[in-house]
Amino acid sequence: MTELLYQGKAKSIYRSDTPGTLIMVFRDDVTAFDGEKKDVMKGKGRYNQEVSAFFFEYLEEKGVATHYQRSLDPVTMLVDELEMIPIEVIVRNVAAGSITRRYPFSKGQRLDPPVVMMDYKNDALHDPMLNDDLILALGLLSPGELFKIREMALKVNSLLYSYFEEKGVLLVDFKIEFGRRNDEIVLADEISMDSMRLWDMKTGESLDKDVYRFETGDLLTAYARVAERILER
Ligand code: 5GP
Repeated sequence: MTELLYQGKAKSIYRSDTPGTLIMVFRDDVTAFDGEKKDVMKGKGRYNQEVSAFFFEYLEEKGVATHYQRSLDPVTMLVDELEMIPIEVIVRNVAAGSITRRYPFSKGQRLDPPVVMMDYKNDALHDPMLNDDLILALGLLSPGELFKIREMALKVNSLLYSYFEEKGVLLVDFKIEFGRRNDEIVLADEISMDSMRLWDMKTGESLDKDVYRFETGDLLTAYARVAERILER
């Protein structure tokens, strides 16, 4: 591990000795509401790294290109260096969170077919919502890339949705990010409880970062329960 390239709210990215390969460390920091609420929860990084690694492997097996190479230790993974695309792609199966504040959906309302939304990843601008024309006008994606990302996001959604369903967990929504590996669009960042909404199908309980956002329980207990269910084969 050498030079620190990027320090996000919950992960740090380092250059490795191998060109084209980066080291991603999942820290125990937890933040919400644009970083206004923050804490350290010992063990959180491990749950997120392990669940992310599991899903990257699972999605690769199902034909989704990802940046994942391998895990190095419980909080660290090796990933391909990509040209990151500053778009947060959000897929929603059930209305919750910002969609219920901005549009007349009620919390828990089924969205069928799923709704794909894209936000411009920019803290200073508070991640404003994009549409197809804005994405092209800003030069963020080519028309072909936009089509591909939408297609990949829906494929990831249907694979994750079914996987969680078998474990008794409802995948309400999630956020993913993509990058370019030469000319190929590749799934990047993480796939963890920090960037998903998950509800227990029996009890309706939240098993994701909403537990921390709204202080409805113990975040680590919720993350441990997801990790336990996901990682059992
Ligand atoms: P909402 O738009 O309702 O706030 O979020 C929709 C989904 O995307 C939720 O699962 C939420 O956790 C995820 N999400 C949205 N923005 C971000 C972000 O900036 N960081 C992370 N980690 N997840 C996000």
